[in-house]
Amino acid sequence: MSINRRSFMVSSLALTGATVLGAPAVLGQAKPRVVVIGGGAGGTTAAKYIAKDSQGAIAVTLVEENDSYQTCFHSNLYIGGFKPYEAIVHKYDALAKNHGITLAHTRATAIDRDKKEVVLASGQRLPYDRLVVSPGIDLKYDSVPGWSKEAEEAMPHGWKPGKQTRLIKEKLDKVPNGGVIVMVAPPNPYRCPPGPYERASMFAHVLKATGRKDARIIILDPKDKFSKQGVFQPDWEKRYGTMIEWIGPGVNDGIKSVDPATNTVVTGFETYKNCAFVNVIPAQMAGAIAQQAGLAPAGGFCAIDAASMKSTVDPNIFVLGDASIAGAMPKSAFSANSQAKVAAMVIRGELTGARTFPARYTNTCWSLVDTDDAIKVGGRYEPKDGKIAEVEGFISKPGETDEVRKATQEENMSWYAGIIADMFS
Ligand SMILES: Cc1cc2nc3c(=O)[nH]c(=O)nc-3n(C[C@H](O)[C@H](O)[C@H](O)COP(=O)(O)OP(=O)(O)OC[C@H]3O[C@@H](n4cnc5c(N)ncnc54)[C@H](O)[C@@H]3O)c2cc1C
Repeated sequence: MSINRRSFMVSSLALTGATVLGAPAVLGQAKPRVVVIGGGAGGTTAAKYIAKDSQGAIAVTLVEENDSYQTCFHSNLYIGGFKPYEAIVHKYDALAKNHGITLAHTRATAIDRDKKEVVLASGQRLPYDRLVVSPGIDLKYDSVPGWSKEAEEAMPHGWKPGKQTRLIKEKLDKVPNGGVIVMVAPPNPYRCPPGPYERASMFAHVLKATGRKDARIIILDPKDKFSKQGVFQPDWEKRYGTMIEWIGPGVNDGIKSVDPATNTVVTGFETYKNCAFVNVIPAQMAGAIAQQAGLAPAGGFCAIDAASMKSTVDPNIFVLGDASIAGAMPKSAFSANSQAKVAAMVIRGELTGARTFPARYTNTCWSLVDTDDAIKVGGRYEPKDGKIAEVEGFISKPGETDEVRKATQEENMSWYAGIIADMFS
């Protein structure tokens, strides 16, 4: 575990019990404390905006187990050869330097909701007045028969960042011309609804660009339909001919088992033997800490109040991003960043009396299909009847001009630069 100097000061103060903050913290008391678990799209944004906009009036500690953040977003662009790996790795240092956030690079192992304390891997406890939980997803290793944690090297998922993303690229680079890649797509709900299909596009792009035009990509899907399907499929045909084949549950009749030793996938319809590589993207659930703390049922996600992102089971805890049940909003970095700004505003209102406004959320998910050819889906969202509902939506159309697709990809690249600056500077 590494905790920086500021963190020692905050935590030792907390441990002496010198600061006694009842709930809710009010103006005039000692500095209120916010702890954020998870330094991803949701947690980093929340930590930054609480610290920045309260101008030092709130002490913010960000608990993140890794000392750098490797984005899942644009990891498909790395796989497709459009970005070097270093371009999707980011450091947290500026959050401490520019906004006085205490960085605790360690794992939060428990949340003591009665005492309002986060327990760290060392056993140290961080007291909080408000807690933000944004731990992302965990994978359901038992959701695909024959697949397991031990099998994730042989049949990588690439749905959590780092080593897994690199493994996907390594395996793709070894696929022979004529080889078959099988992707087992995840059931809803899961992180990044268009992500598997953008990834299949990137596989095809690399195979085609490197002369392996007889390789095939078979997507075995447990879902009847998928995000941007009406745009992806005609684009695949136009760009890659018959290279990508999507097989829904009506035809594949269920994924019965996989065998990592022989790279075999058995469905009710067909057995795929000796695959060049198999990409298993399993079912997903809220990050473990959210389940352990009782914010989500076992194997599920966290219910939130649509107007604040506050957990429905604990008024002192806010849940952001992939771990939350955010109504019509998809599990995306854009969504998590938007939700974090609402939570940060509500938290500042509760702890410092800052003015608050009605919750408004936005999201756009871009997907790269080929060079200078991106498509998008998105919308604006508001609380309605207790849920986050879409109030306006948009989606790319099949057959758009090359200029439109190129402009969409330029938006995609600008969005990435913008969200990274928003999170880490
Ligand atoms: C292939 C792929 C492509 C994607 N493309 C896009 C895209 O183009 N656009 C888009 O908007 N989204 C995209 N996404 C989705 C996006 O990555 C996620 O929706 C987003 O990262 C969710 O943010 P989060 O804060 O909920 O979780 P994360 O960003 O995963 O952050 C969670 C953090 O919490 C930390 N953590 C977890 N538990 C603990 C603990 N107990 N203690 C300490 N730290 C902990 C983790 O280390 C992690 O850093 C993509 C995802 C994938 C897999």
